[in-house]
Formats: sequence, structure tokens, C-alpha cells
Amino acid sequence: MSNTITGGCNCGRYTYTIPKPDGMNLCHCIDCRKWAGAMHSAHLFVKTADITQHAAASTPAPRTHSMQGESGNTITRAWCDECGCGLWIKPSTKPDMTCLKGGLFRPHEIPNPTMENWLRNKEPWETPAKGTQRTSDVQ
Ligand SMILES: [Zn+2]
Ligand SMILES: [Zn+2]
Repeated sequence: MSNTITGGCNCGRYTYTIPKPDGMNLCHCIDCRKWAGAMHSAHLFVKTADITQHAAASTPAPRTHSMQGESGNTITRAWCDECGCGLWIKPSTKPDMTCLKGGLFRPHEIPNPTMENWLRNKEPWETPAKGTQRTSDVQ
């Protein structure tokens, strides 16, 4: 079994190979809900230095948007402006980490969620994932 996984956006402009992560965060904060267009966003925490990007030299850096998150920290979010897929989030509190969107990777390749944040925003019909560490807000 490979110890790396490769995933990317729908059009393939931004493709990433990363060491298989140990865990995944599901964030229910308001900003992630809006960004995901769903009730949470799934993130794989990866050291930025460990990410291999597969892109032509002419490929521009992805579009980004920075704002103060619900936690009060500055969050930068990137997306592919060709196909619209969300790519990653970088919280200002973790400058050497990139939180790649879990949905970029193929089904059954990503780890089970290990942590859920901002559960106070959870809808009444949502059930927290099995085995996660949980916070009602950010840690
Ligand atoms: Zn794309
Ligand atoms: Zn969030």
C-alpha cells in the first residue's frame, strides 16, 4: 500500500501528492460552511513542505481570499478559478501547515475524521462522526 495519496481539483489544474495523513478535521465554523456549501468542511493537515504539486510551470498560483475567521485568526482559502473547487485553507496560527480539502482525494483513501470543531453550529439532524475529538469552538 502506498504511503502517499494524490488528489486534485475537478479540472486537474491543481493536483497534490501528500504523505497519507493520520487524521482529518471536520470544521463546522460559519466560514467553512459557506466555503464548503455544506454543513462542514473536511481538512487534511499536511506540512506544506511535504506537499508535491503537479502543475505546469505556467500554472498560476491558485486564487486566494483571506479573512478573519470565527476563531479570530486570519484564514486564507484557495480555490481553482478554472473549475471552482476549493483547494486548501491556511490558518495564520499554523504557518508551516496547509489544510488540504479532504474531498480532493479519492473515496476510501483518506483517513477517518479525528477531530470536529465548532460543533455548536451543528444542525440538529447532524450526528458527530464516530471516534472524533470534539470542540464546540476552535481549539
Ligand atoms: Zn480546477
Ligand atoms: Zn472552519
